[in-house]
Amino acid sequence: MRLPPGVASADFSAALEQFEAAVGKQWVFTSDEDVDLYRDSYSPFWHEQEEPVPSAAVAPDGVEQVQAVVRIANKYRIPLWTISTGKNLGYGGSAPLLGGSMVLDLKRMDRILEVNDKNHYALVEPGVSYFDLYRYIQDKGLKVWIDPADPGWGSLIGNAVDRGGGRTPMRDHFDAVCGMEVVLPDGELLRTGMGALPNSKTWQQYKYGFGPYITPAFSQSSLGIVTKMGIWLFPEPEAYLTGTVTVPKRDDLKPLVAGMAYLLNSNIVMGTTSVGSPLNFMRADPQLAALYAKPGGATTEDLEGFLHSRNIGYWSVELPFYGPAKVVQAQWEYAKQRFSSIEGVKFQDGKLRRFPIDPAEVPSFQNSVAVGIPSLGVFGVGGARSNGHIWFSPVVPMTGEAVLEAQKVFTDAYAEFGMPTGPMFFLGPASNYARCFLILFGFPIEHDVEKNKKNRENFMKIVKVAAEHGWGEYRTHTAFMQTVSDTYSFNDHSLRRFHETVKDAIDPNGILSPGKCGIWPKRMRKATA
Ligand code: ADP
Repeated sequence: MRLPPGVASADFSAALEQFEAAVGKQWVFTSDEDVDLYRDSYSPFWHEQEEPVPSAAVAPDGVEQVQAVVRIANKYRIPLWTISTGKNLGYGGSAPLLGGSMVLDLKRMDRILEVNDKNHYALVEPGVSYFDLYRYIQDKGLKVWIDPADPGWGSLIGNAVDRGGGRTPMRDHFDAVCGMEVVLPDGELLRTGMGALPNSKTWQQYKYGFGPYITPAFSQSSLGIVTKMGIWLFPEPEAYLTGTVTVPKRDDLKPLVAGMAYLLNSNIVMGTTSVGSPLNFMRADPQLAALYAKPGGATTEDLEGFLHSRNIGYWSVELPFYGPAKVVQAQWEYAKQRFSSIEGVKFQDGKLRRFPIDPAEVPSFQNSVAVGIPSLGVFGVGGARSNGHIWFSPVVPMTGEAVLEAQKVFTDAYAEFGMPTGPMFFLGPASNYARCFLILFGFPIEHDVEKNKKNRENFMKIVKVAAEHGWGEYRTHTAFMQTVSDTYSFNDHSLRRFHETVKDAIDPNGILSPGKCGIWPKRMRKATA
């Protein structure tokens, strides 16, 4: 049996018995066969000692059981790592950051407590997946949309607390959170926002409650276990329309992004957009490869000329519009007008979709997630031979200048570190969050120790390169939480010191998710970088 760090075998056995008494014997997992299921399928530590493998797992079925588990963990100082459905692939999956932690698996708590299609919100437990909530809404014929994460098998709570993003107008998942119930590390039960008012009638309608607003303290956090969460939903719109804008020249990115920022920040475009260049997907083209292979590489004129000869634009973006049919058509017309001053701009109208959608029409969507229908289609991205990937995901300003700079900086860094020129996946820059771009780079996972070591080294280097340019990650794999946290170092790490002060006060025995986002409990704390 694997042991939690610093816990004697006899103590662990005693604790396991108590966990069994609290949740039922069949819901405490200790065999390697069971526990191995909680390992990270996209681990950058395949076949290495450092892979953080859990010691055991416990799966409570209600808030009182979660409280009981936490109290036992405190008694024996057993680190717990909370998961909802544990599908956070690319960011750590269901595995803990600290090897030997026990996984606190909440997927049995899967009740949909309320869905309201008059004020448009839901109240759910951690085990509720996007598929679960979608089916519930469909079965009951409710007129609300969920905003799924790209793979729909994850949970609303896990994704929102990790500050994941989707595609519809409710795409900033943490921003959509309204009211939480939380078990604190000492077993105390807390409700945030209006939930602190017994018998409140607006727990899911008004976020802030009274006094300091602390709901966000439970996102990317080791301060509590979220057992219920309110989330705002989007009223089913009448229609959805997309329109694609294509511009011919490299520097056209600047007015293109300026126009997008205006449309996004004025709520004319309310969904995720993703600016792309066909050059990213044409690397195998012999003519293009020859241009890149020239001494000194391809010039901007070369690339523009190449694209022009094929009648392809340099950049394009698909803009999504949600709302009444007349309004979305007018919004698209208005967008065209704003971009019309860019010389050579081209527009392509998408198909107007009306809701409720005919189920037969769903497969015709390139990505149904954009209209609130969960899917697992995203697993096609890496190709059949992929062993998975982890994401490097910096946040950059929403300007063409910043994107061009990021493109150069990361291309140069890839070349310098001996990584394949051009990222394997280069997704974005995307507007999952207001007023900035998120760029996602996939780092492949190999089942090869040396390749993974090299990839990990490169990952750490590229985090540093990004930080030197003022770009930080919005979220990261558990293996790099320390590295990323080290870059958020203003005033000699005053943010980390604040986090540690709070952590010590709330979790004095340091049992909850040690190391998460670079925050360690006092007893495990190393000297900070
Ligand atoms: P998903 O259900 O979307 O797959 P995971 O269960 O993999 O999400 O969790 C994603 C991240 O959020 C992990 O860092 C995990 O520790 C954290 N997390 C998940 N559920 C909770 C919860 N109920 N309370 C606090 N943190 C949580």
